[in-house]
Amino acid sequence: MADRPGPVGVVYLDVNGLKDINDQRGHAVGDKVLVECARQMREAFEQADYYRIGGDEFVILCYGVDRAAFDRRVQALRRCFAANPRCKAAIGAQWNARFTDLQQTIARADAMMYEDKKAFYRQHPTSNRYRHHSDEVIRLSDPAVLQEEIRQQRFVVYLQPKVSSSDRAAVGAEALIRYQPRAGSLILPGNFLPLLEESQTISQLDFYVFEYACSQIKEWVGQGKQALPVSVNFSRCSLSQPDFVARLSELCVKYGVDKKYLGIELTETARESDGVDLKALIHELRQAGFTVSIDDFGTEYANLSLLSTIEFDVLKLDKSLVDDVAHNAKARTVVETIVGICKKMDIQVVAEGIETEEQLAVLRACGVELAQGFLFSKPIPIGEYEKKYL
Ligand code: C2E
Ligand code: MG
Ligand code: MG
Repeated sequence: MADRPGPVGVVYLDVNGLKDINDQRGHAVGDKVLVECARQMREAFEQADYYRIGGDEFVILCYGVDRAAFDRRVQALRRCFAANPRCKAAIGAQWNARFTDLQQTIARADAMMYEDKKAFYRQHPTSNRYRHHSDEVIRLSDPAVLQEEIRQQRFVVYLQPKVSSSDRAAVGAEALIRYQPRAGSLILPGNFLPLLEESQTISQLDFYVFEYACSQIKEWVGQGKQALPVSVNFSRCSLSQPDFVARLSELCVKYGVDKKYLGIELTETARESDGVDLKALIHELRQAGFTVSIDDFGTEYANLSLLSTIEFDVLKLDKSLVDDVAHNAKARTVVETIVGICKKMDIQVVAEGIETEEQLAVLRACGVELAQGFLFSKPIPIGEYEKKYL
């Protein structure tokens, strides 16, 4: 690896579950997976140097390529792996304008690969994707299949009410997607979202849910029902879609829906590799008239600096904090303090995942005014929601 002038792109790739494959299906199958991996890498990166640096780890060095071209190839590589049921990998990528910082660039690509891997295992705490992803879910990594399944209305939007913690009156709802490949089977998002995120096809679904929410609100308003706001979750990967905010605004215009009825839920994660400037994007969304919530606050990525650097409307306290609050005095202090900070900053707090009266009582004592959880209602089909809450 002699010094070269110009930029370098580094891909760090770690095969998912190779050890399991070797243990359960034998080394011959494991070897085939490695060969397949190498083939996919060569397909996405024709002109590059490839290194196998560990049993299941590879590094690709791509010289003299500009950032946009490099990013395109990385996306192609991710799509390749997502669409291939036989071999899966965690991928980290880093581009640098100067070849001289190569070791540092590789280290950063490695760190991103690790985040990718962790994100995957967070969603599948006890096992790997081979055992969990059924064939019917794996098919969805093909954008054409996903689009067809959406068109066939096999994705169903459920609503979970958000209520006032004092009188339990509904103040709005969160849209939560489910996949129904056939009658009698309802697949929860934890089983297909990671795959759609990895194959970068999730935004199709996010926009679909948003459009669906717009059409529902239009219907409620048209029928003279009391329309309550609906918030929609967006993955990080959707946020990097071109003209993201403009597209949402256009959908509101198309359905004649006031933006005050629509909330956007985003998570703040440590994965900054997607190049989204979260602060600027949230500013743009709020300027346009949308309400922005930060979801899952209190999970391992919760970041207090968020509160001082980004202006947003709603903070959603994650279920993990809520679970602790009734029996752990420290968790209670944390919640009380966060609520206090949010009040000063004019941020509303919603506690998520409330299951018991005891949790509700403590959260109310901490000053939490909005609540969501099975104690009030599970996510339910729209028809049921209309009957109960509108
Ligand atoms: P989230 O946005 O934090 O949504 C709350 C999740 O907690 C939902 O899980 C909900 O069913 C569950 N939940 C609510 N109350 C309780 C409770 O009291 N106890 C327990 N055990 N669980 C409760 P769900 O529907 O499985 O969704 C999981 C995650 O998938 C969501 O977490 C959200 O991050 C993501 N998601 C759902 N729909 C969409 C979507 O349309 N687009 C995107 N990008 N992500 C989505
Ligand atoms: Mg949410
Ligand atoms: Mg949440």
